[in-house]
Amino acid sequence: MKRAIFPGSFDPITLGHVDIIERGVTLFDELIIAIGVNSGKEYMFSLAEREQFIKNCFKDNPKIKVVTYQGLTVDFCMKNNFNFILRGLRNPADFEFEKAIAHTNRDLAPVETVFLLTAASTSYISSSIVREVIRNDGDYTKLVPNMVRI
Ligand code: ADP
Repeated sequence: MKRAIFPGSFDPITLGHVDIIERGVTLFDELIIAIGVNSGKEYMFSLAEREQFIKNCFKDNPKIKVVTYQGLTVDFCMKNNFNFILRGLRNPADFEFEKAIAHTNRDLAPVETVFLLTAASTSYISSSIVREVIRNDGDYTKLVPNMVRI
């Protein structure tokens, strides 16, 4: 069984993430959206909120699961028998960053990273821009799925 995880902070989930998830899930038997918990990081949305937003988005798709995890992504993969890591690429900066992580992960464990290029229509969206729009009372609703409402 091909099981992939899509790890990230999802603070909050955006239409860019949704694009990667909807296209990625067609490649695997199961796609686990894994919210990484980093105790040193400040988040806008609580872990429970981030998890609920994602669960609401994909509640009708039995192939998509949502979990939270701490520690190294590859350790989490090995413990749970996930063979693939799915990541999205928006631009050259993403590529350089993701390349270093993927090479490191490959050194640490036999887990393959699969990249999908973002759809052109969502390539400019990032959670950090969404947070900035929210902080400044802008209309964030065009950037996130309907389930993300404050
Ligand atoms: P992280 O903290 O790991 O960067 P994010 O939630 O920001 O977590 O991103 C998780 C994954 O989603 C990464 O692979 C990132 O490249 C991808 N991603 C984020 N925004 C987009 C987007 N607009 N289009 C495609 N992929 C995206």
